[in-house]
Amino acid sequence: MEINFTQMDCLHCNFVYMVPAVFIGQRREDHEFFHCPSCGKTVHYPQDNKEEKLEKQVARLKREVSFESARRDENYSALEHEIRVRTGHQGQIAKLKKKLAECQPS
Ligand SMILES: [Zn+2]
Repeated sequence: MEINFTQMDCLHCNFVYMVPAVFIGQRREDHEFFHCPSCGKTVHYPQDNKEEKLEKQVARLKREVSFESARRDENYSALEHEIRVRTGHQGQIAKLKKKLAECQPS
């Protein structure tokens, strides 16, 4: 069985060492600490792994969809209100026209 290794350079003591690539992959996934074999300082991958990045992306998209949906509902309500106002005005105009016609001498 072939094992792939990743070269590590310690940021603290500049010690160069090799670790199995699988081990590094697991630490990127679980964000667990491990230690430099020379100075014992911790190495840590706090960055989001692929799954976490996707989860955040999904959450962001859900928020966007919900925001857009709320905005659409708002626009729809505003439009409905506008239609009611205009319909009301048209009704008043019709009434006034009728009254005017009644007042005019024939
Ligand atoms: Zn070190």
